[in-house]
Amino acid sequence: MNSYFKLSKAAVESLAQQYDTPLLLVSTEQVERNYSFLASYLPGVKMHYAVKANPHEAIIRKLAELGSYFDVASDGEMQFLTDMGIPAERMVYANPVKTASGLKIAKHIGVYKFTFDSESEISKMAKAIPGGTVLLRVRVDNPNALVDLNKKFGAHPDEVLPLLTLARQQGLDVAGLCFHVGSQSSSADAYVESLEIFRRLYDQAKEAGFDLRILDIGGGFPIPVIDGNTIDIVAMLQTINKAITHYFPDTEIWAEPGRFICGTVANLITRVIGTQKRNGKQWYFLDDGLYGTFSGVIFDHWDFELETFKSGEKVPATFAGPSCDSLDILFQDKWIPSLEMDDLILVPTCGAYTSASATEFNGFSKTRILVWEEVKDSLKINT
Ligand SMILES: *Cc1c(COP(=O)(O)O)cnc(C)c1O
Repeated sequence: MNSYFKLSKAAVESLAQQYDTPLLLVSTEQVERNYSFLASYLPGVKMHYAVKANPHEAIIRKLAELGSYFDVASDGEMQFLTDMGIPAERMVYANPVKTASGLKIAKHIGVYKFTFDSESEISKMAKAIPGGTVLLRVRVDNPNALVDLNKKFGAHPDEVLPLLTLARQQGLDVAGLCFHVGSQSSSADAYVESLEIFRRLYDQAKEAGFDLRILDIGGGFPIPVIDGNTIDIVAMLQTINKAITHYFPDTEIWAEPGRFICGTVANLITRVIGTQKRNGKQWYFLDDGLYGTFSGVIFDHWDFELETFKSGEKVPATFAGPSCDSLDILFQDKWIPSLEMDDLILVPTCGAYTSASATEFNGFSKTRILVWEEVKDSLKINT
């Protein structure tokens, strides 16, 4: 991956002065670079952006322009995309356990593609959208993922044929299977192993009279550079693509990337609003916290990189957010040059599972989000 969206020191200072902090900048050019990169290494794969990772309108609009499909999980996401003019045909309702309000909107706007992983879901889908196209989510194991989604979702491989049979009996269009290797998967192994296992499942299904025509390989594609650790994303995608071509040459392949598309498109500018020494330990309070953009510390097990633009000797420091909750501690023993009141901190790679899961707890507004390409020309600097 060649270029990343990362604001310069001058841009950070100018933006903070003009718009105050905390502030998030989203780059739609980076959205395009990420989408095109993934699409070029996985040719022919239909990309369904997982809206939950970051539902910001500018990201969705850019992806729609680029021809992306969308993975939606709730009535709110379907309504939001519909309000933006995105046709239902471009959505897959990929929540294995759907709500009544979600199914109602799906029926209303015409979403007809679903995933499921249990018997109890089949009659719900068949009743709401008779003849709907369904993919069965199957559990896979991956010790190399940061976030394991297979504890909660996925039928056991032994359940595949009975569940497909039940779905067919209820008149659903049984189109294929899907999996998710877990988020921020650091290697191609889990994809390749899954593809091999799924090839057997597709062959078994064929013997049982099913013509599975779609395979959805889910999300999990990693942000390649975090905290100095580098994943060879090109090699990883080439390996996955080779396995797809080998095991599924004639099947329509879908993917549901979330983090990979949006993780590197946002930068947070936050400010030191308090400094303290407690029991000899250095504490810094920031104007954004765990209930805000840093919600990924909890929900996403993510460790954020902090750019201080300082070069002094590093000391271990504790970082806390602005709320009055003692849970609102972001990092402990984060090695960082000494900071002072009002110092600005840039948090690059801040786009996935950040603002999406932020709250207004304790009366703090959600961090304002600006589109970088819309504001950059108005800054009085050279970027
Ligand atoms: C969250 C989610 C994704 C996106 O996962 P990433 O790891 O962010 O790529 C894809 N598919 C489903 C069903 C999800 O729930």
